[in-house]
Amino acid sequence: MNHKSKPVKIGSRTIGGGPFSVWAGPCSIESLDQFMITAKTVKNLGACGLRGGLYKLRTDPSSFQGLGEEAYAVAVRVKSELAMPFISEITDPRQISDMLDVVDAFQVGSRNMHNYALLKELAQVNKPILLKRGLAATFKEWMLAADYLVRGGNEQVVLCERGIRTFETATRNTFDINSIALAKLESPFPVLADPSHGTGMAAIVPAVALAAAAAGADGLLIEVHPNPATALSDGYQSLDFSAFESLMLKLPKVLRALDREMA
Ligand code: PEP
Ligand code: MN
Repeated sequence: MNHKSKPVKIGSRTIGGGPFSVWAGPCSIESLDQFMITAKTVKNLGACGLRGGLYKLRTDPSSFQGLGEEAYAVAVRVKSELAMPFISEITDPRQISDMLDVVDAFQVGSRNMHNYALLKELAQVNKPILLKRGLAATFKEWMLAADYLVRGGNEQVVLCERGIRTFETATRNTFDINSIALAKLESPFPVLADPSHGTGMAAIVPAVALAAAAAGADGLLIEVHPNPATALSDGYQSLDFSAFESLMLKLPKVLRALDREMA
């Protein structure tokens, strides 16, 4: 297994190159209070950086679509106050210029992995890209999507396995642990695991997160919410603070068994 993939710098922190980094936060930024309390808590528990959706691509058009521009100020305030880098999804190339001042890495979501027009635009930006695997993308298609970024001039790519759609319906997605080990073997990019979307079930997120660490992931992208039952998106797969704390206590033990450490 190759833990020495070329590290990618996201704000003040690094993904890849050895240490394991945890990027946590809510699926969606819902308010200043919700994002601030979540960010403070995950920071105290050892997270390196923050996630939080500004724009949400929802299957149901009547579902919460994210606060969008309204939440830019919230994101900037929280990340500056806590000195934590921030990753958020871009859903439209027209958001690039405004989002440049808000995010430390652009997330390309699963639904947009095949959006080559978006990838070509992001290839020209000097910011890292967190490239999620498409929900029905083969490993090869995922690697070729990364190639769009590299060929277009942006080598700051981090891959993110977030589960794929299979015949199994007991969980939201089938988390493809093979792809983590394979990406570490065959690609030059660091790999984050997203067990939140990978499972869609908070009760099994910690087990799959630990498995991903054991399989060689460079870190986690994980959904945490102060009160998952009231979350405006993905509450059923979001860890509450105590579940996140318990996971953060177990992770170093799994990593240590494999001669690795937390960032
Ligand atoms: C998310 O990270 O909240 C998200 C929408 O992820 P995905 O694109 O993997 O569904
Ligand atoms: Mn989500």
